[in-house]
Amino acid sequence: MSLHNINFDAIFGTDKYRQFLADWNGGIDPRLKAIIIELTDYTMIEYSHGLTITSLNRSFVPIGSNPKSAHFEGRAADIRSRTFTAEQSAVIVKRARVIWGSKFLHIIHHDSGNGEHFHLNINYPFKRNGWRNGGSYGT
Ligand SMILES: [Zn+2]
Repeated sequence: MSLHNINFDAIFGTDKYRQFLADWNGGIDPRLKAIIIELTDYTMIEYSHGLTITSLNRSFVPIGSNPKSAHFEGRAADIRSRTFTAEQSAVIVKRARVIWGSKFLHIIHHDSGNGEHFHLNINYPFKRNGWRNGGSYGT
């Protein structure tokens, strides 16, 4: 599947693919979707390739993962980063923070045990660790 050169880390026709599609089309905050589309346009122009989303919403807590993750609330995405150099990844993170503001968008480039990726999440106000309190939900 390719829309704005955005791909899901799943084989077309599988349950995993259908879940990605359902999350993308209504299961995630539309502002997160807009951020990913804008980011993909940037990587297409600058690096001639789009993005692969490796995780959107989660319905269970993997061992060692954060049970309060924004992935449970439709406001987080993981994007494969190994297709970018370290320098490119640093530029992508820095640019996104400038454009969206680091209080609104939490974006990091890391490896939490399942491969290096960009983790993006929108910080909601009025929540514990929300941006109004200066914090953020992570990974
Ligand atoms: Zn994540």
